[in-house]
Amino acid sequence: MNIMQSLKFVPFVFGFVLLAAACASSFEENDPTGSSYRTDFKFGNQDASDHNLNWLQQEEGIDPNQFILLGGSESEVREPRPVSNNILQQKYKDTLVLRGDNNTNRVALTFDDGPDARFTPLVLDVLDKHDVKATFFMIGARAKEHKELVKRIHESGHAIGNHTYWHPNLPNEEPQRIHWELTETEKTLEDILGFKPRLFRAPYGALNEEIMELISDLNLTAVGWDVDSLDWKQQGPEVIQDNVLSNVGFGSIILMHDGGDWSMDLSGTAEALDEIITRLKQDGTEFVTIPELVNVPVEK
Ligand SMILES: [Zn+2]
Repeated sequence: MNIMQSLKFVPFVFGFVLLAAACASSFEENDPTGSSYRTDFKFGNQDASDHNLNWLQQEEGIDPNQFILLGGSESEVREPRPVSNNILQQKYKDTLVLRGDNNTNRVALTFDDGPDARFTPLVLDVLDKHDVKATFFMIGARAKEHKELVKRIHESGHAIGNHTYWHPNLPNEEPQRIHWELTETEKTLEDILGFKPRLFRAPYGALNEEIMELISDLNLTAVGWDVDSLDWKQQGPEVIQDNVLSNVGFGSIILMHDGGDWSMDLSGTAEALDEIITRLKQDGTEFVTIPELVNVPVEK
């Protein structure tokens, strides 16, 4: 094996180390009241990963923490949830929205898991090209790392929502931790934007009654989706387009991703997006943000 071949394996080895460390590591309370948690999240054994950490930071100028979805990659964790969320929606009519009014020609594009320096700019360029406004559900840790992208998204007229701080699978977490994930992201976004967003989307769409009660207490509106692009499967732009175009209807909320875990290549999302917008505009569809689609304020 020559040196170039060896180098190809470095990201895989590194990813495994990060994943193992993330699994082994847990958040610890800072104080006995449990009112705050560690925010300086680091991966378990620093010594073991220092070499790779340095490699990524020095060679690529990238903070490796950016590439972790704490609850696991979409493909491992996500299950179809429309039925359970439909039942929840019956109980929490004002707090959980899964789609908009199907008597209008409006749809909303939504992008999760950014801001990501690799893919968010590609998505923003396509949206700008078509003068379309969308909604971005951001991971707090990534927003903090990419304040300039958060500002660009806001200044371009897109809506911004909360997608937790580290992307855990919320039903598996303790109530205090869930509270921290939501409020820490609020604080981070408020520092950058000057307001707390009203919109929230749960990682993997995973909700339950306890989480809905907290969302309600925090005066948030939870946002699901009825059209899943499945772009995280990275099956190419044609498949992503087909997933959207064959399922979209008036009032649809379309789920896509402008960020992913460390191994994900989401360049197909931006490519598919160009075609999706072109085709739907030809059909007379109007693209709006979630606050416009479901008539809720952008800010709390
Ligand atoms: Zn997500």
